[in-house]
Amino acid sequence: MKSRQTVLQNITGKSFDLCVIGGGAVGAACALDAQLRGLNVALVEAGDFAGATSSSATKIIHGGVRYLEQALKDFDPKEYRVVIRALHERARMLDNAPHLTRKLEFLVPSYGWLNAVYIEIGLKIYDWLAGSARISASKFVNREETLRLMPGLKQDGLIGSVEYSDGQFDDARYNLALVETFDRNGGFALNHVRVTSLSKDSPGTLCGAQVVDQLSQQSFAINAKVFVNATGPAADSVRRMAAPAIPHRLRLSKGAHVLLPIEVFPTQQAMLIPKTDDGRVLFALPWRGRLLVGTTETEVQPGDELYVTKEDVKFILGELNKYLAKSVTADQIVAGFAGARPLVSSNSFESTKKIARDEVIEIEPTSGLISIMGGKWTTHRAMAEDTIDVVEKSLGRVSGVCPTRHHVLYGSEGWSVDYWQELVNTYKVTPDVAHRLSVTFGTAAKNILDLVNEDKSLGQHIIPEHPMIRAEVVYAVREELAVTIEDVLARRLGVQFYTWRGARDAAATVGTILGAELGWTDDQTQSSVNTYVSYINRLLDLADLPRDTSVPASAKHAL
Ligand SMILES: Cc1cc2nc3c(=O)[nH]c(=O)nc-3n(C[C@H](O)[C@H](O)[C@H](O)COP(=O)(O)OP(=O)(O)OC[C@H]3O[C@@H](n4cnc5c(N)ncnc54)[C@H](O)[C@@H]3O)c2cc1C
Repeated sequence: MKSRQTVLQNITGKSFDLCVIGGGAVGAACALDAQLRGLNVALVEAGDFAGATSSSATKIIHGGVRYLEQALKDFDPKEYRVVIRALHERARMLDNAPHLTRKLEFLVPSYGWLNAVYIEIGLKIYDWLAGSARISASKFVNREETLRLMPGLKQDGLIGSVEYSDGQFDDARYNLALVETFDRNGGFALNHVRVTSLSKDSPGTLCGAQVVDQLSQQSFAINAKVFVNATGPAADSVRRMAAPAIPHRLRLSKGAHVLLPIEVFPTQQAMLIPKTDDGRVLFALPWRGRLLVGTTETEVQPGDELYVTKEDVKFILGELNKYLAKSVTADQIVAGFAGARPLVSSNSFESTKKIARDEVIEIEPTSGLISIMGGKWTTHRAMAEDTIDVVEKSLGRVSGVCPTRHHVLYGSEGWSVDYWQELVNTYKVTPDVAHRLSVTFGTAAKNILDLVNEDKSLGQHIIPEHPMIRAEVVYAVREELAVTIEDVLARRLGVQFYTWRGARDAAATVGTILGAELGWTDDQTQSSVNTYVSYINRLLDLADLPRDTSVPASAKHAL
């Protein structure tokens, strides 16, 4: 990708057809769609790309079994359309970035025949709604086979399970791939720059955004003919920059997940727990060698800090343990994350569980600000398509065929499931390193291994128990706009979503590489390491998990 310096030079005070505010899934998809349609586009993100909701998902590409149940109960055609559209987008997500996605079988354990029949009928309707986009037919799986697939399930009263298929994806890397594809098609994307106000011309139409660089604290202006507000949970705050008296549209629902060693519940299938005590759905999925379990659903307010609390841990483990032969305990948790779903509601009394994950595109009549709100990860591309149709209309352009429906993302060109073998043959790396690089970076993995060819020390692992290598950190800085330790360890490498304590222990190594790449002084490097270590310790404390003893992280002796 273009460097921070180059992007800053090219967007400061410059004029664009479109400026997209927010670099989560929806903003990145809007920027890519518009750029591919021939518009001149800038994308600005206050934190890191995927730094908010878009790296906090359950990582399922789905039509939404729970939303289908809601649609059946409500007899609401609009809710069916939400599910059908998502099922078709599921197929596109799988096709457009195969290295970051995969098909996944889900089992819904049944402890009563009536319940099994109810679920099987629901899932047959799910299959039918998917039509040609169906992955595989749902079916009843007998008790013996269910226990073979999930040996850790509680056996008492188990009659079997209902199996269906959806997709699974790497949310943070998918978001980055959207940004990288946008960049490589001529767009200008920058993270760590916050829009603080919007300016208008004399008839009152938006013409500029004041932006503050969060690293240098310098402010600058970006001019554009149209502005898209794709700030997810923060959408109301940007709407109010354009029209201060405008009423709020969003309700925010916090969802928390925890990660456990996969050994606590060995499985290659995902488990769907259809009804928790308070009527929610809970998932337990195999995820990169871990068991990812969530989510909770708690209403929060804009600006609330989002983290896994001890109440979240208690709820998630309490519900999970009802299905396990051997209970898991909090001290087995290795990591976690929380995010806020941006749900669009006009009724402040409606429960957040019941609001369909549908989206709204709003054009603020006086300023022309286009806000895209709601939706879900699975529908990010379709949301962007609809938004850019509106953008083209407001620019007086005739919209053509949307280019993103079949546009493969960066890293997917020429990729196949056995691409890792090519890496082993060409670069003589171990299969586990090759496999990880292949499913994380796709065919861009060779750029990382070229770095190792130049400097063998970059082939060393970052944490002992995981095949991530130091070259990935260099690549993250040079090619993926990473500027903080968290940018690297969370969104680029995924260590923070795999092990909190491991990420904390890797901070000194990562900080030192980052500091050398970005020209930090020793003090700046040590201060960044300390900040990150304190942050992880705080996450552990808030979840009421032991910090464990570890050697104080010293950047000086890291390499
Ligand atoms: C717990 C949980 C689980 C989920 N699981 C799934 C799932 O399995 N499958 C699925 O399909 N969907 C799932 N979703 C929904 C999905 O994650 C979200 O719908 C999607 O990520 C929202 O993307 P977004 O781009 O709208 O928001 P965000 O990812 O939050 O992006 C908005 C961005 O705007 C930036 N921003 C805010 N203010 C400014 C400003 N002033 N200037 C510049 N930038 C700004 C923020 O920093 C942020 O990065 C889940 C959501 C949650 C919370």
